[in-house]
Amino acid sequence: MTPLHFAAKRDSGSASWKRADPEVSLHRDHGALSGECTVRETGEQCPARKYRDAEEPCAHLCTIRKALVFNDEADDGTTIEVFERDDVEIAAADAHVEDAMADGGVRR
Ligand SMILES: [Zn+2]
Repeated sequence: MTPLHFAAKRDSGSASWKRADPEVSLHRDHGALSGECTVRETGEQCPARKYRDAEEPCAHLCTIRKALVFNDEADDGTTIEVFERDDVEIAAADAHVEDAMADGGVRR
Protein backbone atom coordinates (compact mmCIF):
# COMPACT_ATOMS: atom_id res chain seq x y z
CA MET A 1 0.00 0.00 0.00
CA THR A 2 1.32 3.46 -0.92
CA PRO A 3 1.97 5.92 1.94
CA LEU A 4 -0.39 8.89 2.11
CA HIS A 5 1.22 12.36 1.90
CA PHE A 6 -0.92 14.63 4.06
CA ALA A 7 1.80 17.28 4.41
CA ALA A 8 1.74 17.90 0.66
CA LYS A 9 -2.04 18.40 0.80
CA ARG A 10 -1.64 20.80 3.73
CA ASP A 11 1.28 22.74 2.22
CA SER A 12 -0.42 23.18 -1.14
CA GLY A 13 -3.62 24.42 0.51
CA SER A 14 -5.57 21.85 -1.44
CA ALA A 15 -9.36 21.89 -1.57
CA SER A 16 -9.45 18.57 0.30
CA TRP A 17 -7.37 20.02 3.12
CA LYS A 18 -9.63 23.09 3.37
CA ARG A 19 -12.80 20.99 3.31
CA ALA A 20 -11.40 18.93 6.18
CA ASP A 21 -11.76 21.98 8.46
CA PRO A 22 -15.51 22.46 8.59
CA GLU A 23 -17.67 24.32 11.03
CA VAL A 24 -20.56 21.99 11.76
CA SER A 25 -23.72 22.59 13.76
CA LEU A 26 -26.31 19.96 14.50
CA HIS A 27 -29.42 20.66 16.54
CA ARG A 28 -32.99 19.55 16.98
CA ASP A 29 -35.83 21.63 15.67
CA HIS A 30 -39.13 20.37 17.08
CA GLY A 31 -37.50 16.97 17.54
CA ALA A 32 -36.08 16.61 14.03
CA LEU A 33 -32.33 16.80 13.47
CA SER A 34 -31.23 19.79 11.44
CA GLY A 35 -27.81 21.21 10.78
CA GLU A 36 -25.33 23.18 8.75
CA CYS A 37 -21.80 22.57 7.58
CA THR A 38 -19.55 25.30 6.23
CA VAL A 39 -15.90 25.51 5.22
CA ARG A 40 -14.33 27.39 8.14
CA GLU A 41 -11.85 29.34 6.00
CA THR A 42 -14.38 30.70 3.53
CA GLY A 43 -17.71 30.38 5.32
CA GLU A 44 -19.16 28.76 2.21
CA GLN A 45 -21.55 25.85 2.45
CA CYS A 46 -19.83 22.46 2.55
CA PRO A 47 -19.17 21.42 -1.07
CA ALA A 48 -20.73 18.01 -0.50
CA ARG A 49 -24.07 19.69 0.16
CA LYS A 50 -23.53 22.64 -2.19
CA TYR A 51 -22.79 20.64 -5.33
CA ARG A 52 -24.68 17.45 -4.63
CA ASP A 53 -27.86 17.28 -2.59
CA ALA A 54 -28.35 20.06 -0.04
CA GLU A 55 -30.99 17.95 1.69
CA GLU A 56 -28.56 15.10 2.33
CA PRO A 57 -26.17 15.22 5.29
CA CYS A 58 -22.50 15.46 4.31
CA ALA A 59 -19.79 13.22 5.78
CA HIS A 60 -19.02 15.86 8.42
CA LEU A 61 -22.61 15.92 9.70
CA CYS A 62 -22.67 12.11 9.59
CA THR A 63 -19.53 12.07 11.77
CA ILE A 64 -21.28 14.17 14.43
CA ARG A 65 -24.41 12.03 14.21
CA LYS A 66 -22.37 8.85 14.65
CA ALA A 67 -20.58 10.38 17.63
CA LEU A 68 -23.98 10.98 19.21
CA VAL A 69 -25.16 7.45 18.57
CA PHE A 70 -21.98 5.92 19.99
CA ASN A 71 -21.71 8.52 22.80
CA ASP A 72 -18.19 9.49 21.71
CA GLU A 73 -16.27 12.17 23.56
CA ALA A 74 -15.03 15.43 22.06
CA ASP A 75 -11.31 16.29 22.17
CA ASP A 76 -11.79 18.06 25.50
CA GLY A 77 -13.38 14.98 27.07
CA THR A 78 -16.93 16.30 27.07
CA THR A 79 -19.75 14.35 25.50
CA ILE A 80 -21.35 15.68 22.37
CA GLU A 81 -24.86 16.97 22.86
CA VAL A 82 -27.54 18.19 20.50
CA PHE A 83 -29.66 21.04 21.76
CA GLU A 84 -33.27 21.77 20.97
CA ARG A 85 -33.25 25.02 18.99
CA ASP A 86 -36.23 26.44 20.91
CA ASP A 87 -34.46 25.82 24.24
CA VAL A 88 -31.36 27.70 23.07
CA GLU A 89 -33.42 30.62 21.80
CA ILE A 90 -35.38 30.79 25.07
CA ALA A 91 -32.14 30.69 27.08
CA ALA A 92 -30.68 33.50 24.96
CA ALA A 93 -33.83 35.58 25.44
CA ASP A 94 -33.76 34.94 29.21
CA ALA A 95 -30.11 36.03 29.37
CA HIS A 96 -30.97 39.21 27.46
CA VAL A 97 -33.80 40.00 29.90
CA GLU A 98 -31.53 39.30 32.88
CA ASP A 99 -28.89 41.65 31.45
CA ALA A 100 -31.49 44.37 30.98
CA MET A 101 -32.76 43.89 34.55
CA ALA A 102 -29.23 43.90 36.00
CA ASP A 103 -28.50 47.36 34.60
CA GLY A 104 -31.96 48.67 35.41
CA GLY A 105 -32.96 48.63 31.78
CA VAL A 106 -30.79 51.66 31.08
CA ARG A 107 -29.00 51.59 27.72
CA ARG A 108 -26.34 54.12 26.91
ZN1 LIG B 1 -19.67 18.95 5.44
